[in-house]
Amino acid sequence: MNLWDSYKKTVRSRLYVPDEAGRQEGVAFWRDRLFYYMALYMVPLSFLALVPGVFMSLISDVPLLAVVDLVAMVLLAFLALGKGMALATRKLIFIGIFYVLSVVLLIYLGSFGPGLLYLFAITVFVTLIYSVRMGYITVAVNLCLCAAFGVLIHFRLIHSPLVEAYDIGSWIAVSSNEIFLSTVSVLSLHLLLHGLQSTIENENKLQRELLSERKALQDALSEVRRKNLELEQFTYFASHDLQEPLTTIISLTDLQQNAETKDFLTQTEYFEYVDRASKRMRQLIHGLLEYSRIGRSSVEKSMVDFDLLLADVLADMQVRIEQAGAEISIDKLPQLLVFPLEMRQLFQNLIGNAIKFSREGTAPVVTVTAREEESHWLFKVSDNGIGISETAFEKIFIIFQRLHGRSAYEGTGIGLAYCKKIVELHGGRIWVESAVGQGSTFCFTISKETTS
Ligand code: ADP
Repeated sequence: MNLWDSYKKTVRSRLYVPDEAGRQEGVAFWRDRLFYYMALYMVPLSFLALVPGVFMSLISDVPLLAVVDLVAMVLLAFLALGKGMALATRKLIFIGIFYVLSVVLLIYLGSFGPGLLYLFAITVFVTLIYSVRMGYITVAVNLCLCAAFGVLIHFRLIHSPLVEAYDIGSWIAVSSNEIFLSTVSVLSLHLLLHGLQSTIENENKLQRELLSERKALQDALSEVRRKNLELEQFTYFASHDLQEPLTTIISLTDLQQNAETKDFLTQTEYFEYVDRASKRMRQLIHGLLEYSRIGRSSVEKSMVDFDLLLADVLADMQVRIEQAGAEISIDKLPQLLVFPLEMRQLFQNLIGNAIKFSREGTAPVVTVTAREEESHWLFKVSDNGIGISETAFEKIFIIFQRLHGRSAYEGTGIGLAYCKKIVELHGGRIWVESAVGQGSTFCFTISKETTS
C-alpha cells in the first residue's frame, strides 16, 4: 500500500466515516463524509498556504504569525490523524483553528492578509459540516467580530496594521462585503441542501415502494406457480379417475361382443354393471362441476352465525347421525363474514367424513371447536375414527385421492379438495393432525377480515 493510501485509511478510521448504509439519512450522511474529505485533503494542501505564510512572516519580522501558522498546521494534522477523539470534537477544533487564524491574520496583516477570506470560509464550512442554522449563527458571530474590530479601530485600542490602515468608515465598507457574501452563500446553500434532502427522501420513498411492489409481484408469482401445480394435479387426477368407469363399460361391452365370453355375464348382470359405472361417471362429473363452481356464484359474503349454520348442517344429516349412533358436540361458535353455502358444504364434508371413517364397533364421537387468534379464527373438527397415516396428510386434499377402496368406504375423493378450495376462498388454510387408529382432527382457519 502506498503512502497516500495508508494516510487515507488512517484518516478514514479516525473520523469514523459513516458506511454506505447511512446514505438513506440524506444530507446528514454527506455532512460527515464531507468533513472527512476536508480533513483528508486539507492537511497536505495546507502546505500551499501555510509554508509561504511562515516564510513571509519570518522575512517580515512577525515571528508570532509564523508560530500561529505552524501550530495551525500541527493541529490540522492532529485532527485528521489523532486518536480517540469524537467527530464533534474534531469539527470544533477545525472551526477553532480557522477562527484563530482569521483573527490573527486580520490583526497582523489587516486587509493585506486573508483574514476576511477565512471568516467567509468558516461560514461556508460550518453550513456544510454542521447545519444551515449554524451557518446563519456563524454569519452573526462574524458580524460581531467585525464590529469588535470596528471598536478596536475607532478607539485605536491596539497597535496593529489593521488599526493603522483603517478608519471606522472604510472598515465598515470592507468588512460588510464579507457579511454580504457569507449571507448569500448560506442562503444559497440552504436552498441547495434542502433540495438535495427532498430529492434523497423521494428516492428513498420510491425505492421502498419499488421493493414492496417487487415483493407483491414475487408473492403473486409464487401463488400463480402454486395454482398452476394444483391445476396440473387436478387435470391429471380428474382425467385418470374419469376414465375408470369408462374403462369398465368398454371392457364389459367387449366381453359382451366377443362370442367366447358372451355368456360370461347374464344380460341383467351386464346392465347392472354398466348402470353402476355410468352412475359413478355421473357422480364424478357432477362432483367436478361443483368443485369448479366454488367461489364463482354471484352470492356475496354475508354475516353468518356459525351456531345456526351448524344446527342446520346437523339437521340435514340427522338420519346419518342416528344410523351411525354418532355423538356430536359443538362449541360456542362465532359470527363471521363468509360465503354461507360454501361454509355449509365445508362442515357437511368434514362432519360427514368424521362419521363415515369411524372404527368398526365404535360409535363416532365428533367435536367442533373454534378459537379466536390474532388475524383469524381457528376451527377444529375432531373424531375418534380410523385415523390417517402421516404420509397421506397432503395427499388427501388432492382431488380424487382416497386412501381406501370403494368397497371399504364409499366416496369420490372430492370432499377434502372441496374443503381446501372453500377454506382458501376465505383466506385460510386447512390441514390434518392424526395417527392411524387414533382419530383425526381437521383444522382450518378463516380470516377475520370483514370486507367481502
Ligand atoms: P371421500 O370421503 O369421498 O373418500 P374425501 O376427499 O372427503 O373423499 O377424503 C379423501 C380421503 O381422506 C378419504 O378417502 C379417506 O381415506 C381420508 N379421510 C378423510 N376424512 C377422514 C377422517 N375423518 N378420518 C380418516 N380418514 C379420512
